[in-house]
Amino acid sequence: MRKLEVKDLDLENKRVLMRVDFNVSLDKEGKISDDTRIRAALPTIRYILDKGASLVLMSHLGRPKGEVVERLRMGPVAHRLEKLLGRKVLKLDDCVGSKVEERVKKMRRGEVILLENTRFHAEETKNDPRFAKGLASLGDVFVNDAFGTAHRSHASTVGVTKFLPAAAGFLMNKELEVLEGILTHPKPPFVAILGGAKVSDKIGVLSSLLSRCQDILIGGGMAYTFLKAKGLPVGKSLLEKEKIKEAEKIMEQALGKGCNILLPCDHLVAREAKEGMETRVVGEDGIPSDYLALDIGPKTIELFVKSIKKANTIFWNGPMGMFEIEDFAQGTRAIAKALAGSKASVVVGGGDSIAALKKMDLKDKIGYISTGGGASLEFLEGKELPGVAALSNKS
Ligand code: AMP
Repeated sequence: MRKLEVKDLDLENKRVLMRVDFNVSLDKEGKISDDTRIRAALPTIRYILDKGASLVLMSHLGRPKGEVVERLRMGPVAHRLEKLLGRKVLKLDDCVGSKVEERVKKMRRGEVILLENTRFHAEETKNDPRFAKGLASLGDVFVNDAFGTAHRSHASTVGVTKFLPAAAGFLMNKELEVLEGILTHPKPPFVAILGGAKVSDKIGVLSSLLSRCQDILIGGGMAYTFLKAKGLPVGKSLLEKEKIKEAEKIMEQALGKGCNILLPCDHLVAREAKEGMETRVVGEDGIPSDYLALDIGPKTIELFVKSIKKANTIFWNGPMGMFEIEDFAQGTRAIAKALAGSKASVVVGGGDSIAALKKMDLKDKIGYISTGGGASLEFLEGKELPGVAALSNKS
């Protein structure tokens, strides 16, 4: 069933309640270090305002867990949006309540309000119906452009749709279209590159990709659970003991499906995960018991780049090593460079992969960067995203 889109709505003199994903990265001083997510919502924001509506924006920021956390207020986001949009954005002190309702009722055509962090209320993540009704009372129609939270069943993504006509914004549509493309008709060879710290976050997507990909390259901390499952020594490297059995099963299933799972065959190891440590490259059976592997080694880079060069479709989520420390960033850099130079349709998802691309100045050279890490993984797992399922159907 096709979902209602923002372009299907009559917006003239309407008050639009819009869920955006302004969960931006903040630096240590609480300043916005990456405003990609704000920029990504601009086309829908501009379209709604051009059509003669007023706009009430809402988003979460960080994980305040139902309490007001000063450094997670939306003030700096409102400021940045104002600059990017070139018009006034009024930030309110809350997202529900009589004061908010009164101010919103006075809105004029073309006016933009940004509500306070929705996660300052515990009811948001519990999808509390009363809280959702309070949010919904602020608009005549609802537009969801927050692909990054589409995998969450929260009041501002799902709850509000019980009370208002609910349409997808342009960003939401674009994300779904791109991911749908690689899920349903990827041009082979399709190569997935998975890394990062946690196997448990990626088991689901791995199972789904087995029947779609020719190669799956596994690097980063998650690789060591797979290497352990193959009986290889992993020293003090990251290991999820309770996932070893599942890793074994995935490798067995891959054999049956003709999918090659490529694991690191050499590693950059150190005694501690710290800058300036003495490092060594060791072979696949050579991680000493008092060392941990913090990056893929040169032979693995060669192996992975060879596979990337053959690919026509590539999905990447998760760094190949502890890339935040320059000593362990070589593997991730090499993969990022290979992707930047690839002719394939490349889709990258996940905050850390994007941070790596940014650090390496390669962000503009990648085909498509998804604003949703978890959401893109769940979509590729074949799961229905609750934020999308809850939107109104097209009549
Ligand atoms: P994730 O959130 O699961 O994508 O994990 C990202 C994190 O994994 C980054 O902060 C990396 O520093 C970390 N990481 C990647 N490879 C390793 C490794 N070999 N050992 C420890 N941490 C790693």
